[in-house]
Amino acid sequence: MTATDKPHHRIAIIGSGPAGLTAAIYTARALFEPVVFEGLQPGGQLTTTTEVENYPGFPEAVMGPQLMQDMRAQAARFGTQFRQETVQQVDFGKPPFTLTADSGACTADAVIIAAGASANWLGLESEQKLRGHGVSACATCDGFFFRDKDVLVIGGGDSAIEEASFLTRFAAKVTIVHRRDALRASKFMQQKAFDNPKIEVAWDSVVEEVLDVASKQVTGARLRNVKTGAEQILPCQGFFLAIGHTPNTAVFKGQLDMDEKGYLSTKPGSTATSVAGVFAAGDVQDHRYRQAITAAGSGCMAALDAEAYLGR
Ligand code: NAP
Repeated sequence: MTATDKPHHRIAIIGSGPAGLTAAIYTARALFEPVVFEGLQPGGQLTTTTEVENYPGFPEAVMGPQLMQDMRAQAARFGTQFRQETVQQVDFGKPPFTLTADSGACTADAVIIAAGASANWLGLESEQKLRGHGVSACATCDGFFFRDKDVLVIGGGDSAIEEASFLTRFAAKVTIVHRRDALRASKFMQQKAFDNPKIEVAWDSVVEEVLDVASKQVTGARLRNVKTGAEQILPCQGFFLAIGHTPNTAVFKGQLDMDEKGYLSTKPGSTATSVAGVFAAGDVQDHRYRQAITAAGSGCMAALDAEAYLGR
């Protein structure tokens, strides 16, 4: 803990994506001097994306990292404190609640959890061994390294299309590998992929192995067609995962109610969790909408719920 870190806060916010920072803007403007634990990826998932075209107020789009930088500055302007660390442990037994972070513990009268979600992996041994050697879950971060190379994108949702489209800026060819014969992505995004001459789709295909662990670099992937059972090796130098996310809720297990996938349960129409005084906003409690604007909206709701709980 640094000298400026207070041992007690009226409101602590865990997470610094659109939900956490919106909660910070509202609670700071209500003079609660909130503290935000920014976590391992300050700014959240939008910092790993490029142009955001669907956040209202930006007719010409805005870059994800810029949007988050601006939200942070807006929260700071009203007196939000920031701690660039991760909350490792919580005690929600009774208020004040205790949060233990990398550099020490503090207490808070109310807590807003906006810890977001993290990318999923297939779970293949070869995939894990080649992480950082051609295997990535962030095209925005690593796409630059694949200039004129062939890459695969695994998944069939909006993220897969978005990642594939972005990668065509660099790559010679992008093959989307999808386990079914129809994409989950919205029709608009699908059309974007089908119209792009650099994008192909390997339908009904699952990845059995990423090659080549022995040479410590990605040289291809062994795919199996789920309908015919036929295997093929698709040569590539980059391998990008876009198969959804898991909420960052491990630290709250046993303390808060959550669903079978680990999303925090909130009371309908509110951000209240199963513990009075603890609120949840954004992707950590939303497996359905998962948009920056819905996260920001629920961050606002959590701020107002926390303020009402604290009696103001
Ligand atoms: P998603 O919609 O859950 O899609 C995940 C994709 O990965 C699905 O196609 C799924 O296949 C596939 N998948 C999951 N597990 C797999 C596995 N183990 N092996 C192989 N494939 C697997 O996730 P998302 O694409 O990250 O999107 C999340 C949310 O963000 C959505 O609501 C989406 O609309 C939104 N989003 C919007 C935009 C935008 O509008 N610009 C951009 C990105 C994301 P199945 O289809 O067979 O289940």
